[in-house]
Amino acid sequence: MGRWFQTAVVGWLVLTALPALAAPAWDEAAATAGTRAFAHYQALHRIPELGKQEFKTAAYIRQQLQAAGIRDLRTVAGLPTAVIAVIDTGKPGRAVALRAEMDARKGSETSGLPYASQIPGMMHSCGHDAHAAMLLAAAETIAKAAKGLTGRYVLVFQPAEETAGGADDIVASGILSRLGVSAILALHAAPGLPVGAVDLAPGPILAGSHYFTVTVTGRGSHAAAPQDGDDVPTVTADLISDLVRLPARTFDAVAKPVVISVTSITAGDEHSANVLPTQAVFRGTLRTFQDITAATPGHPSIKGRIEQFLTGRARAAGTEARITWRPGPPPTVNDAGLYDRAVTQLRRHWPALQIGTGKPSMYAEDFAYYTPHVPALYAGLGTAKGKLGLAPVHTDGFTVHPDALTVGVRLLLEFASLDTP
Ligand SMILES: [Zn+2]
Ligand SMILES: [Zn+2]
Repeated sequence: MGRWFQTAVVGWLVLTALPALAAPAWDEAAATAGTRAFAHYQALHRIPELGKQEFKTAAYIRQQLQAAGIRDLRTVAGLPTAVIAVIDTGKPGRAVALRAEMDARKGSETSGLPYASQIPGMMHSCGHDAHAAMLLAAAETIAKAAKGLTGRYVLVFQPAEETAGGADDIVASGILSRLGVSAILALHAAPGLPVGAVDLAPGPILAGSHYFTVTVTGRGSHAAAPQDGDDVPTVTADLISDLVRLPARTFDAVAKPVVISVTSITAGDEHSANVLPTQAVFRGTLRTFQDITAATPGHPSIKGRIEQFLTGRARAAGTEARITWRPGPPPTVNDAGLYDRAVTQLRRHWPALQIGTGKPSMYAEDFAYYTPHVPALYAGLGTAKGKLGLAPVHTDGFTVHPDALTVGVRLLLEFASLDTP
């Protein structure tokens, strides 16, 4: 009994000491890391680059990681701007991955900030520079603290979130499974949410996306004589206005929310104002949490219903509609167990953090590609304070308040030290 008690006490001491090693509170390190993140943010914000062309961004990230003494930098075949850094503490333990994107978008920044984009027509309007900057500062902090930590830390600087082939190429390369990654976590700037708040929810949080192109063809004619042709532009305009309204009257609004947006229309040309052309093309995106190919008794699939509508309506007007589809990311699904661990740890280490659940949205995100393979958690980081951090993502007025970076780095450090299986 005495011996058992002694062993039990020693065991208890070891057990209570281990989580302290595995999950340190990062409050003191976060202030310094926040200052570092702001420096990285300004540097990256000035040099926005499109997906798969993030060469200057990748060079900066590599240089900073090496300066922090992080030597194990991996590459991904076919994705030359990806940077995957590994910090191995040399002690056994789980491998947690943190992911940040690197790519910018087309747009003309209107912030007027001293560190505004220096590349005309290009800007970071989705906050990926902030994500990469916070991850860099988190990597520096982890590298400095590595002696007191266990396991491995995998920092994924991912190209091409906005375009295609960023997350899915990294997953397909198998690098995360080769590194034994047991969980992957990421933050995204959430405009309008105050600095000091984070949105975190279990289960499906972001929709899956699909892209479509519709080509409408028919007989052309002189603009003065629409009766001699099929008036393709007017038929197309009718198709578009009915298509975007179709979900409200066709799909279960509660169980099967669907959003369809047409984002590009082309027909005719600027020199032919007196010609009704033979062809019009429109493109757009469909957002839903559902499998668009799944039919139920009495209800065609979402994809089937849309195709039936477009081809049938076009035919009734004497034209023909051809539809092609390109899949985007599937829905993003947060792992419930990882969510529980994260919230428990955050409440313990950081009582002042405002944790909300947000609400599922029809935005899509290529972080979704990681979620079927490894427990994943994607969180919204509050970036609004004063006049900054209010404009929506993908607008020219998009900004991130610098104070959000300190909160974000600390969150990433807490995520990195989660006690995952
Ligand atoms: Zn975006
Ligand atoms: Zn984004």
